[in-house]
Amino acid sequence: MIYHSTRSKTICRDSADAVLEGLASDGGLYVPERLPEFDWKKCLQGSAMDMATDILSALLPEIPDMPELVRRAYTGKFAAQDLTPTVSVGNFGVLELFHGPTSAFKDVALCMLPQLLTAARTAKGMKENILILTATSGDTGKAALEGFKDVEGIKICVFYPDGGVSQVQRAQMVTQEGSNVTVCAVRGNFDDAQTGVKNIFAACRGKELPNSLSSANSINIGRLAPQIMYYFKSYRDLMDAGKIKLGDEVNFCVPTGNFGDILAGYLAKKLGLPVGMLLCASNANNVLTDFIRTGTYDRKRPLYKTTSPSMDILVSSNLERLLYLMTEDDALVASLMEKLNKEGSYTVPESLLADIQAQFWADYCDDEGAAKVMGKVFKEYGYVCDPHTASGWAAAENYVNQTGDNRAMVVLSTASPYKFPEAVLKAIGEEPAGDGFDQMEQLCRISGVDIPKNLAGLRTKEERHTGVIGKDEMLEFVLGL
Ligand SMILES: *Cc1c(COP(=O)(O)O)cnc(C)c1O
Repeated sequence: MIYHSTRSKTICRDSADAVLEGLASDGGLYVPERLPEFDWKKCLQGSAMDMATDILSALLPEIPDMPELVRRAYTGKFAAQDLTPTVSVGNFGVLELFHGPTSAFKDVALCMLPQLLTAARTAKGMKENILILTATSGDTGKAALEGFKDVEGIKICVFYPDGGVSQVQRAQMVTQEGSNVTVCAVRGNFDDAQTGVKNIFAACRGKELPNSLSSANSINIGRLAPQIMYYFKSYRDLMDAGKIKLGDEVNFCVPTGNFGDILAGYLAKKLGLPVGMLLCASNANNVLTDFIRTGTYDRKRPLYKTTSPSMDILVSSNLERLLYLMTEDDALVASLMEKLNKEGSYTVPESLLADIQAQFWADYCDDEGAAKVMGKVFKEYGYVCDPHTASGWAAAENYVNQTGDNRAMVVLSTASPYKFPEAVLKAIGEEPAGDGFDQMEQLCRISGVDIPKNLAGLRTKEERHTGVIGKDEMLEFVLGL
């Protein structure tokens, strides 16, 4: 199957090469030339792993042995039955994506990506090692490290913003074990780290290097594609619970940063799943809310640090894929992205904005709003959610109140509340005591929900990766690996 750059239809790769390369050589993202025929009704009949197999085989046909890769990726790694359960909380379904090895939704994709990469490497007879470079706003880094640790033929290097992630997130990364892993803090924010990684790719393009560079960010189609599965799984869970019948449309509300998760929902819809509106929920960094409401994307604004750090993003890379998929106009996308780079903003044509608004709705809430939601959801339903999920819940409520749309609504829950215990405790009316680890135990006593095993063990683990560098030192750092 042919993939090409969002910025130029002439830069083409098959799916295996697209996964190996990550980013296209013109800076664009790989998109399928056309989506395959897909039997979405049949897909709904299987287990979560069957669904993943069907979807990934359809989208990445040049990667062989998909059933085996899926089995290796997920077997025994998730604490929940059937990977990603949807639970009923008040009027909404909550799609719990955080039962994987690092308690973040990114595990769903990052358990799978190493399998896809190694299989693609073998299929292509590639000899050199792959070096995965990743910038993280908190969760990607750990999920990628855990997914790639000790995978043969692959090394991984993760950069995170110094002081820009929670204590628990930092502890997860700096204690990472594995013979092929590097973790380093960068003085700056997430966008600095992400820009640094993009610059390294640009500087190394076409050079003879001991390692071939690739990415675990959702710019890689091999990272994005595995996320489509849980929209199907959630739909099926709603059917099994008697909340919908086959063919009914379901709205999904997605706490959004890089626009990867919600784009996977859009791809699920394109594959046939009856998805109604996709709600894009942001925190105080509401660049996407403004974009979806007005058609103007403007990154020239301050980046706020919030209690939902994985959404503290000004440049949402995967939006580029949506712009392409909706217009199939590579020249338009190239010119918009050039504007974004040079001027810091762009405005899409009226007709494209209308198409976007027919399928997407957007809202945001600040930390105070998210705290109110966490408090209310705990008080009314006894359910503890994390600050990212809370922003989704708030958007979903506002949407229903404003539109009266009464189709079934699923809020994607992207992180375990135990990753952000301080913010959660305050929100549910408790005084957080001690450090992040004490707070986890405190939250456990109050909520009665077990602390995930991977987090409970962190306190006593040795710190192995404590380096901090400037954002201009990243290239040199990588060349030394
Ligand atoms: C990464 C992340 C998000 C945002 O997902 P995108 O695919 O970047 O939009 C939301 N919540 C949590 C907890 C995350 O880790």
